[in-house]
Amino acid sequence: MTPGGVLVLAEQRGQKVLRASFEAVRGGQLLARAISAPLAIAILGAEPSTAIADVRALAATEIISVEHPLLEPYTPDAYALALIQLIRSSPPRWVLMSHTYQVRDFAPKMAAALERPLAADVIRIGLEERPVFVRQIYQGKLHAEVSFEGEPPYFVSFQSGAFRSDEAETTGVPPPVIRFEPELSTGDIRTRPLEPFREAKQAVDLTKAEVIVAVGRGIKAREHIALAAKLAEALDGELAASRPICDNEWMPMDRQIGSSGQTVSPKLYVALGISGAIQHLVGMRGSRTVVAINKDPDAPIFDVADYGIVGDLFEIVPTLTTEILKSKGS
Ligand SMILES: Cc1cc2nc3c(=O)[nH]c(=O)nc-3n(C[C@H](O)[C@H](O)[C@H](O)COP(=O)(O)OP(=O)(O)OC[C@H]3O[C@@H](n4cnc5c(N)ncnc54)[C@H](O)[C@@H]3O)c2cc1C
Repeated sequence: MTPGGVLVLAEQRGQKVLRASFEAVRGGQLLARAISAPLAIAILGAEPSTAIADVRALAATEIISVEHPLLEPYTPDAYALALIQLIRSSPPRWVLMSHTYQVRDFAPKMAAALERPLAADVIRIGLEERPVFVRQIYQGKLHAEVSFEGEPPYFVSFQSGAFRSDEAETTGVPPPVIRFEPELSTGDIRTRPLEPFREAKQAVDLTKAEVIVAVGRGIKAREHIALAAKLAEALDGELAASRPICDNEWMPMDRQIGSSGQTVSPKLYVALGISGAIQHLVGMRGSRTVVAINKDPDAPIFDVADYGIVGDLFEIVPTLTTEILKSKGS
């Protein structure tokens, strides 16, 4: 790895690179370009060659395959030790990751062992004079700008949705793959995670939906959800909700979008009576086209909407549904 550059850690599960890692790569590409630094992408595993194929087309200087049998299954000790060795072998200036549960598990251990700072759950990079990282504090009520001092490397993890995965640049000339074999032994591994916890066995997977109609507190009562369901049906889409709707048990928890629900990126996201709190936005701002219907013209959802309708959803939604059905000839 070229020292002084940007290193992005891409995560794989079962040889499939997570979408959040493509978002982190996008952040890395923007940072590397702004500071004219090389960009390396590292993937860890027992033999991560299939996962590496996932990122091979991405624009980067090199891809590092960090390989050892003890890197699978995942353990925080093996990951932290392997990465500490990689970083010490040729120190990057920046180490970027997505803020997944796994990163939350091993990244503080790794940064602390190297006595270097970690800015976690960053939502944006400011690249004007020097890199500045924006984090939410007080549950999203304030934004803090963080810059680093002292010796690098500096560690940063990005909130899901901070960058768009489909904006990660690709190249026609795949970067070279370099193998790095850390020294690990079974005695290094002190804890082993159990099976990942799944809240509902038959959870609806909204991540694959192309069209989502999401309902917020503006819907006012459980019996009005049928209105949104008809629109979703007319659009051949899935129904989803903001958190208060699921907290009220008007819809099941597995239909919640947001920081404590699912993160989705459909082609079309229709938000009905949703204010656009940050905890909701992080789950849906990767959507390609956002349509918002809200009676408050200052609702923050309009900041991320491509099309905004200021008005009463109880008037607009039935008309919209009828017109869509008409245009489909039904
Ligand atoms: C730790 C934490 C995690 C959270 N996780 C999530 C999460 O995963 N997902 C999530 O969604 N939230 C989450 N929240 C909650 C979040 O902060 C907001 O409270 C929530 O998103 C608000 O939901 P809402 O937009 O439906 O309701 P509100 O904020 O009450 O907004 C209702 C909107 O409906 C509009 N409206 C009212 N009547 C009409 C009408 N007739 N026609 C059109 N518009 C109308 C209003 O103008 C308003 O903008 C979390 C909060 C915390 C603290």
